[in-house]
Order: sequence, then structure tokens, then C-alpha cells
Amino acid sequence: MSKKYVGIDIGGTNLKAGVVDETGTLLSAAKTPLQFTTPEAFVETLAGLSRQAAEAAGIGAEEICAVGMGVPGEVDTEHGTILYTCNIPLADLPVGALFRRYLDVPVYLENDANCAALAEYWAGAGKGCHSLIVVTLGTGVGAGIVLGGKLLRGINGTAGEAGHMVVEPDGVPCRCGRRGCWEQYASANALKRITREAMERCPDSALWVHCAGKLEQISGRSAFQVARECGDETAQAVCRSYVRYLALGVVNLINLFQPDVLCIGGGVSNEADEALLHPLQRIVQQERFGHDPRRTAKVVKAELGNDAGLIGAALLGRMETK
Ligand SMILES: [Zn+2]
Repeated sequence: MSKKYVGIDIGGTNLKAGVVDETGTLLSAAKTPLQFTTPEAFVETLAGLSRQAAEAAGIGAEEICAVGMGVPGEVDTEHGTILYTCNIPLADLPVGALFRRYLDVPVYLENDANCAALAEYWAGAGKGCHSLIVVTLGTGVGAGIVLGGKLLRGINGTAGEAGHMVVEPDGVPCRCGRRGCWEQYASANALKRITREAMERCPDSALWVHCAGKLEQISGRSAFQVARECGDETAQAVCRSYVRYLALGVVNLINLFQPDVLCIGGGVSNEADEALLHPLQRIVQQERFGHDPRRTAKVVKAELGNDAGLIGAALLGRMETK
């Protein structure tokens, strides 16, 4: 019988748990809004969710081989400790040890972008490939790198933070302290900002009609939507500039690691292929290093969507306990 693993996705708004089998198939999921009171109550909630997910998958808690957690921040994988998260006060929390008071199974922690990479590698867009990079375009730009089946962690577990490579010297200030980081130009939030800036320069743009004259109504989808629907020049220029910056980082990553597959996930990746993926692929084709078209990274969309973090967290257990 296939072994079962629980994955937990600690998000900024929701906590999710799910049971995954050895192939990375999600068998069940449970979720609850994040309400942080005390560390103990928080960990108890995670254990409760895990039991709920196990029950929904029709297995007893004793059949869970391991629990993996995806954390939006830095973790000490060796000691099962959360070191830092930006939006939940979990710093220095020995979540692994606390969790085992409720459910005595091996517990593994990993950064959430790395979890998404593992999931796509084992069960999504990179299934069967040698090396894969996942770039997730959300509030920020997350990235995870799997080389020959191994997650690239570096000395402190934060390797692969491609969102913080600088693509514009003296550019927009970033939360990390540098200026001009890739995530300030290629995240969904950046797309929103670039759209607003373009509107301020172009009072005639159809984007103003789209948001009923209110800049605060602009979303990360506005520019692509208006460009598609009425061919507005300002919106088209925003999309071109966005894809240009996205491609800059993608080509940098491909040149550094030459993976078989680089996949793009997160909200922005849902835009139509002709507006996002195809122009991105064209720039990569022109600019990548290496001239053999048979041996070059495929740039594709991620396949697992919002479940990637959950599935990857569960697969940590599979990787570590095999
Ligand atoms: Zn940064």
C-alpha cells in the first residue's frame, strides 16, 4: 500500500493541511483561517488540521509516515525551527518539537517557495526531469531550485531567493534592504505599481475607464485585461515592460543553472499565453546562453497551482524518510 504523508501550508491568511501519497497525488485537504494567539495554540491548530485531513483521506493518524510544513520565511531544517516569517510572529519557534506533542511523527520544515519547487519537480511541470526551477509570481517573487532531485538550500536554507537579485541598480527600494530587486519589477504587486505609474503619465489611457477613475481600483490583472480587451497602448506598454523584467530574471536563472525546466506559477501566470508565456519564451530563446536548441530549458507554466506548497511540504516527508 502506498505510504501517506501530510503536508501543511502555513500561509499569510489560511492554514492548510493535506494528505499526499508517494506519487504526490493530493488525497484530501483541510483548511482554516489563520488566527494567531499563542505559539502553542497555533501548533495545536496545525495538529488538529492534520488529523482532519487524515480523516478525510480515510486513514488513521498512525498511518501518517511524516508531516512536512511549508513556511513563508526562513527555517532551520535541521532543528525543525522557524527562524523568521514576515507576517506571522513565529520567530525562533521550535515548531517541530511542539508539534510532536500532539502527533508523534517525524516533522520536516522548509521554505514555501522550496516546497512549491519540490512539488512541481516530483508531481507537476517537471515530472521526470533532471533539474527544475520554479518562479512564483505573487505578492513577491518566490523561487526554488531542484538540481538532480536535490533542493538547493545553501549554507542557511535561503539559496534560490531569486526575487532579491538586483535587476535595476538604484531602483525601487525592496523590503530586503536593497534597491532594484527583481521582485520589485516582476511580482503581482510590482505589476500593480507599474500600471499606476503609467496611468499617472497617461491621463487618456483606457485603464482610467477600467478603474472608474480610481487608482486604488487597479489590480495586478488590470493591464493585461485592458490590453487584451481594447488594445490600449499604455496597457500594452505596461505588459511589455513587465514581461521584459520577468524575462531578465528568468534568463539570468537559466544561464546560471541551465535546468531542463523553468516553470512560472502564481497569480500572474494565469494570464493568456499569447500575452505572457509566449513573449517570455521568445526573449529567453533570443537571450539565453547556449546555442543548441535541443538542450535548453523549457519555459512552461507551473501545473499544481495553489496546491503546490501543500504537496511539496508533504513530499519533504517522502524525501527524508525513504
Ligand atoms: Zn529585495
